[in-house]
Amino acid sequence: MSRPQSHIFAGLDLVAAEPEQPRRCPVPLCTEPMPQGKHALFCADCHFRLPYETTNRLFRLQLTCERAPDEATRQHLREQLHGYVQQAVRALRGGNP
Ligand SMILES: [Zn+2]
Repeated sequence: MSRPQSHIFAGLDLVAAEPEQPRRCPVPLCTEPMPQGKHALFCADCHFRLPYETTNRLFRLQLTCERAPDEATRQHLREQLHGYVQQAVRALRGGNP
């Protein structure tokens, strides 16, 4: 009870020591493994349940973000990307409650 935060920081150290942490699919309750590669935003199942226009738009936004000339633009695009991912997650949940 004296220093509960120390456990949290110990966990962060572990994460930092392991750069190839397996990522989780952002869809709640989805336990499918994520594909390899930094551009994967969803597991394969969820990816193919989304309309092509959605996954294509997300992919293009990722590339635009990577090529952005300055950090302010990248930050803005990352937030935009996060919003689109959440929108896609809501669409998936709506179609399959
Ligand atoms: Zn998934």
